[in-house]
Amino acid sequence: MEGKAMNRPKKIFLWIFWFIVVPAGHWFAFKLSPPQALGIWDVAAYTAIIMIVASLPLTVNGTAMFLTQWITIAAFLSHGLFFEMLLLQVATVTAALAANLKYQQPYRFLLFSSMFSLISLISGLGFFAFGGKIGQTTVESIVFPGTIFILLNFITAMILQPAAAIFLGNRKKFFGRGLAWNAGIRIVIYPLGIALFHLKGLLGPIAFLLIGIPFIGLLIILKMNRYSQNINRHLQKAVAIGHQLTERLDEENILHLFINKITKTLPADWVYIFRLEGDELVVISHLEQEEKAPLEPDYTMSKEKGISGYVLKNKKGVIFNEKSEWKKFSYGYSPENAESIMCVPIMRGKHVEGVLFLASANEKVYKKYQLMIVDILCSYLAVALSNARHYEETKRKSEICTMTNIPNYRFFDQHLNERMADLETGKLVKLSLIMIDIDHFKNINDTYGHQSGDLALCQLASLLKSTVAEKGLVARYGGEEFVVLLPDTEQAAARHLAETLRKKIEDHIFFVQDVLGDSEAPKEIRLTASIGVATAPDQARDAVSLIKYADRALYIGAKRAGRNKVAEYIHTM
Ligand code: GH3
Ligand code: MG
Ligand code: MG
Repeated sequence: MEGKAMNRPKKIFLWIFWFIVVPAGHWFAFKLSPPQALGIWDVAAYTAIIMIVASLPLTVNGTAMFLTQWITIAAFLSHGLFFEMLLLQVATVTAALAANLKYQQPYRFLLFSSMFSLISLISGLGFFAFGGKIGQTTVESIVFPGTIFILLNFITAMILQPAAAIFLGNRKKFFGRGLAWNAGIRIVIYPLGIALFHLKGLLGPIAFLLIGIPFIGLLIILKMNRYSQNINRHLQKAVAIGHQLTERLDEENILHLFINKITKTLPADWVYIFRLEGDELVVISHLEQEEKAPLEPDYTMSKEKGISGYVLKNKKGVIFNEKSEWKKFSYGYSPENAESIMCVPIMRGKHVEGVLFLASANEKVYKKYQLMIVDILCSYLAVALSNARHYEETKRKSEICTMTNIPNYRFFDQHLNERMADLETGKLVKLSLIMIDIDHFKNINDTYGHQSGDLALCQLASLLKSTVAEKGLVARYGGEEFVVLLPDTEQAAARHLAETLRKKIEDHIFFVQDVLGDSEAPKEIRLTASIGVATAPDQARDAVSLIKYADRALYIGAKRAGRNKVAEYIHTM
């Protein structure tokens, strides 16, 4: 939002500048060149036509250009400087109203108002200095001062408009293509002003129609063409963004990209993405520019109320142009200074997954066609989020042992490597590994059947998980072997925990189903386990060695030493 960041000295300067150039300038112009041969119908015709043209600006690179010079030149040459300057003020006010220049941008208005008056004053003075007279149509009397007038008009505009852009901090937007267009358009339009002046002298007010109709007609066609070009451009962009979104598999990443792209495509000071969860809408991502009271994380609201509720119910997006339009619908949280709002359902097929809520501090910023673009983007978002969720789900499933419901070897291996990397970078100081192997487990299978063995393994997994709790990660290493990875745990503490585990296993009563025997009743059995402990970086510097040493401790120090024991790795093993 340009203009907002203007500092106090700049504001004071603008007021002084405006007072000198606009009210004082008009008084001076009135003294120098009062209205001449000006009838009420002339005033009406000029005013009407300049208001129409000023409300149809041509936008290049985001800079609006007003093609009014042909009207003001004719006004100047026929009726004098004061009338021309007055018309320019009418044009500036109309343009400001049409562009919805709001209360936060009065300084932009002051700047443009003074700039146009200054351009007129300078070119008008040049005209009079070179002997120009108002209302003269003979070639000798008009050509020379008229040329001076146009040259000065062009030169001052080419200096003052970039200067104004710098003053407003819009440098990038205005220079380059914007400036070239401005120059080009002025050069094309000046002759039209001279034509209007002469034609009006010849035919009277009909001249306005003869030149005005084709000019305004072309302007409208040009604008319509630009509008459809805009839609095309936006559609192409939307598809490209869509592809980028659906390429990603991480939810946070997707939401981040989406918000980033949407704020580049549309003017939005507030962006909220809600997910529909049961009867509630939960905010899953948001962006608030300069918000004094931002939304608290995990903000939830009823899916039936407010603007989002309306959008969810109708499965159709809405646009509001200003606060007074949406205030009565609003429920719960709404951004304090928001004016324009766009709210769109996030749909996958016919199914509503959530709501996107955009707001801007300016009025009338969202166009109907943008609703369509955002709708497309939201469909891509829904697909991307659902892909990400499926991917996460599949990944999670592939990392879990379905029988015991604890992480499997694949997950453990990756986790171990990550923790090892943490050791390297200093994020971790110690990493201990406990390896557990059940003693004579084959006997359980042989005596009670394989299914009973499975049952016992599940109960053991739960026992390990509840005992280790938050201290580390329990995983099934394979067969009847389990591992416990303990970050930030010294060897002594790991050994202590291993001893606790051994004792718990020894004391635990496992229930199995004796499918091989006669009775169907659950059977109580006892198990013991042999346990090995190793610690990095003390004994091992890499993942493979850490596993190897814990395994050695297990077999040499515990199994061979009689089972149901805990052993630490020592160098002689
Ligand atoms: P020890 O470790 O004390 O030397 O004796 P053990 O009987 O446990 O011997 P070992 O570790 O070599 O054998 C492991 C046995 O565990 C072999 C296999 O029948 C059994 N086992 C491995 N995975 C599973 C499983 O998923 N379910 C069942 N029921 N049994 C399994
Ligand atoms: Mg084994
Ligand atoms: Mg075993």
